[in-house]
Amino acid sequence: MLGLMQDWPLLAYKIIDYAAMQHPNRRIVSRSVEGPIVETNYAELRERALKVAQRLVADGIRPGDRAATLAWNTARHLECWYGIIGAGAVYHTVNPRLFEDQIAFIINHAEDRVLFLDLTFVPLVEKIATKLSTIERFVVLTDKAHMPRTTLKNAVPYEEWIAAADGNFSWVEVDENDACGMCYTSGTTGEPKGVVYSHRSNVLHSLIACMSDNFRISSRDVALMVVPMFHANSWSLAFSAPMTGATLVLPGPKLDGASIYELLEKENVTFSAAVPTVWLMLLQYLEANNLELPLLERVIIGGSACPRAMTKTFSERFNVDVIHAWGMTEMSPLGTFCSLKPETKGLDTEAKFDLMMKQGHPPFGVEMKITDDEGRSLPRDGKAFGRLKVRGPAVSSAYFKGVGGQILDETGFFDTGDVANIDELGYMQIVDRSKDVIKSGGEWISSIDIENIAVGHPDIAEAAVIGVRHPKWDERPLLIVVAKKDRTPTKDSVLEFLKGKIAKWWLPDDMVLVDEIPHTATGKILKTALRDRFQNYVLPAARGEAARAGS
Ligand code: AMP
Repeated sequence: MLGLMQDWPLLAYKIIDYAAMQHPNRRIVSRSVEGPIVETNYAELRERALKVAQRLVADGIRPGDRAATLAWNTARHLECWYGIIGAGAVYHTVNPRLFEDQIAFIINHAEDRVLFLDLTFVPLVEKIATKLSTIERFVVLTDKAHMPRTTLKNAVPYEEWIAAADGNFSWVEVDENDACGMCYTSGTTGEPKGVVYSHRSNVLHSLIACMSDNFRISSRDVALMVVPMFHANSWSLAFSAPMTGATLVLPGPKLDGASIYELLEKENVTFSAAVPTVWLMLLQYLEANNLELPLLERVIIGGSACPRAMTKTFSERFNVDVIHAWGMTEMSPLGTFCSLKPETKGLDTEAKFDLMMKQGHPPFGVEMKITDDEGRSLPRDGKAFGRLKVRGPAVSSAYFKGVGGQILDETGFFDTGDVANIDELGYMQIVDRSKDVIKSGGEWISSIDIENIAVGHPDIAEAAVIGVRHPKWDERPLLIVVAKKDRTPTKDSVLEFLKGKIAKWWLPDDMVLVDEIPHTATGKILKTALRDRFQNYVLPAARGEAARAGS
């Protein structure tokens, strides 16, 4: 027997229809690439998105075609997303922080036909333009007055391009399972792989994100979307903000502490989401200028582990709730949120901060398990750790064009490549990336755990831990640190600081001070580069043995 409910496909452009109908005047504030802070609202944004869709169709873009964006978070970029999906096409966000060759590779691999780009990226795209074999037109997200001279083929200023459409248009009808968006994984190893979101997965993922244990976002919020739209589907905010009617603040190209603070303060922001690096810059700016955050209520921190010191500072110094979150491009990307279940009520403050270091519990719509290498499920006791696997309606089933082959196990679970434990209350904690975990004497040492604690040392700005060869233990941890300005952390003081906070045998065998730690295009520590750089590093124990052997 069938249910007798209407067939109302979950189409992502219905979100902007809803926002324009129910929250037409809600503001969308952007720091424009040209400089000034500019304002629009959901009703206007929808009107302009209709023009984008109409113009794309007039230019010959058909359902399923890919249109790339290489752009910061601004209202224009958001209009492009809704316009592209409203034309039945697929937005493909390109991360400008990738290497030039990778950018060319993914645009060609996705077979993008149009590229929307910000002024910032015109020189970059000019450099690789001859390699872009599928792009027919470049639309520069600016007006005629700011349009630079460019060698790009069929380049046109966005404002002029959409002015040719009158907006008298209906969204192109598609199926809810049709492709809606694309994002390539950042690829710390190997070539980037294309993740393809459907309308249905984007709508469901966004509904999940809005729930109270997760973003807890509503029309009363002013949401600052720091997380770039080119990073993992904007953590859903391009959909969940209009879906709830939240006021949206978009930081454009400026993510430094002063610029973020200016928006937080001027726009009375209540909610925001970003990676730890951005929050670190903000906290340093606040500290240096003795500033407060009176209206900010909560921040989502994810993309890499949120250090305990950061959660504590936000909470105790600024009275801001931190929700630590974990996810990945392949999961649309949200996978867990570390909100507090009622069972945690009795915990004292420090125990609560310990818990908040965990990545959190999955919401409805994300199934999660940990297994050993043979695929056997491991106990949920907060101790046993193994491969973290996930399943759900917004989790990838394959990569674009079948790259990487079969990516699900026989039960339909996707191996995240993370190593984690899950405790009795269902809180998951990332122990490491499976490639980064340090294998010492047959046991595993979590590089992330040591890094998180090391950055709490007063002289350390950033820390990375990698395994280096050891004659007896196979691998031992090497701590690599960047000092805070005008500070010089010593190995002895750092080891002393770590003692008692991690198991004794986890203590790094050595520490090196570097000027800079390399990062991936999405701001994660690039462990492969560090492993290459220190591949011949000789630990003190081994140095001693070599000296003894020589004497
Ligand atoms: P990406 O697809 O670029 O977003 O990268 C996803 C990966 O980032 C995950 O598989 C994790 O290894 C890492 N990651 C994301 N969020 C966190 C977090 N809160 N703590 C630790 N690692 C994280």
